[in-house]
Amino acid sequence: MGDARPGPVPVLMYHSIGGSDRLAVRPEAFAEQLAYLKDTGYTPITFGELVRRRPATGRPVVITFDDGYADFHERALPLLDRFGFRATVFVTTGWIRDAGPYAAGRPLGRMLSWKQAEEITACGVEVGGHGHSHAQLDQLGHAVLRTELLRSKRLLEDRLGRAVTTMAYPYGYSSARVRREVRAAEYDAACAVANALPAADEDPMAVPRLTVRAGTSLTGFERALRGRGFLVDHALTKGYAVVRRSHYAVRRLRGTV
Ligand SMILES: [Zn+2]
Repeated sequence: MGDARPGPVPVLMYHSIGGSDRLAVRPEAFAEQLAYLKDTGYTPITFGELVRRRPATGRPVVITFDDGYADFHERALPLLDRFGFRATVFVTTGWIRDAGPYAAGRPLGRMLSWKQAEEITACGVEVGGHGHSHAQLDQLGHAVLRTELLRSKRLLEDRLGRAVTTMAYPYGYSSARVRREVRAAEYDAACAVANALPAADEDPMAVPRLTVRAGTSLTGFERALRGRGFLVDHALTKGYAVVRRSHYAVRRLRGTV
């Protein structure tokens, strides 16, 4: 990311396409956003490609999806294919529909099956990690944190037959300690939330993303891509992170984490 070329590369964050929660984007709105990217000359690359080597030409953008909803396979992928766009999906391994003995946490919707995860990989989609149980990583003790990171990576690598080198923090939450452990678990880069464009010298372990949600208008989408303000998620502001960190410190003192 230490590239001196002008212009930050926007990293977009989606969740469900076609689901019913406040983050879910309607397929029609998603198609409209993709058409806008195409018309304005953006060329989507995966998050891994951005981190490894930003392309020298074109107008790169990264399209990411968190959690691993089944509707990525069913609704988003056909649209991405139509535009010839690449994408990255961050999968919570314990939420996979047929996770079997590895099932963990509480999935928020209908999730990808392993077969669907294999199929999207075969289509050129980058699959990255998103924790095993979707826990708030900065609130976990060391041993549990390490398990969350390593189990998720190994399950994905074993099943998909390729190295998994990127991840996204569940809820966007991380800390210096979490980022150290992510590096130790051999991830090269990780996505946060932050609703900002990455700086030229951005820490690859906390790359900010722009949240696209149900209520995002095309005007809001355009403005976000240009770094002209965005809808702020109150739960994800810096002040709130400080409160959450102190909760963790108190629990650590009590010996509960
Ligand atoms: Zn998530």
